[in-house]
Amino acid sequence: MKIYCPKCNNIIESANINVAEDIYVCSKCNELFKLSEILDQENINEAENLLRNPPKGIWIGKNNENTKIKISTHSSSAVFLIFFTLVFSSISFLIFLQILTAKSIIGLLFISVFVAVSIYLWIQVFFSLFGKIEIIININKSIKDYIFTGIGIIGKKHYINWKKIINIYAYSYHYSEGSAIKSIFMSEENKLIKIPISYINDNKRMFLLSVLKYYRRKNTNYFA
Ligand SMILES: [Zn+2]
Repeated sequence: MKIYCPKCNNIIESANINVAEDIYVCSKCNELFKLSEILDQENINEAENLLRNPPKGIWIGKNNENTKIKISTHSSSAVFLIFFTLVFSSISFLIFLQILTAKSIIGLLFISVFVAVSIYLWIQVFFSLFGKIEIIININKSIKDYIFTGIGIIGKKHYINWKKIINIYAYSYHYSEGSAIKSIFMSEENKLIKIPISYINDNKRMFLLSVLKYYRRKNTNYFA
């Protein structure tokens, strides 16, 4: 990456860049600048560009009240999930019928776990087919922004207090058999907002992370 002086547009020689100290100096005007400010500006440009040209499966609507960003969680990996869920819940159901005719209480308690897992899996299937992640950014700052994950109107709504957010990051939890659960976390001092992103592709993931960081920065910078 080439770095230019923000004042005179002179190219900064690599000897005048100190990454560890987060500074660079222009040999022409002899002024010091912060390295992190360039990176910050790059992130802002990237997010604004993504908001103008969102990847496939993302819709952005603006009116005089808010900006609405809708990310479809529809994914092709759902095929495997559907297959697995069908097999798992069919087997659970067959065992359930067996236990029912045997009238075993312990058996019923045992199978109830499988039924619960089946229900959980079916919710995941519906989410991977028809789910959405929606972000609402209000123009009137006295109305809280929020992020919604779910299907239709059924789901979880997290209100966002941008000024209190300490960190926004993506995290993957890998199981021994190779599958992974991926989430984006937004951490506040006493609260952790978790957004499931296992069923969205890398473009959407990148978009979501970049845009959330962008709005956080916009809402915490009083001078912008
Ligand atoms: Zn200069």
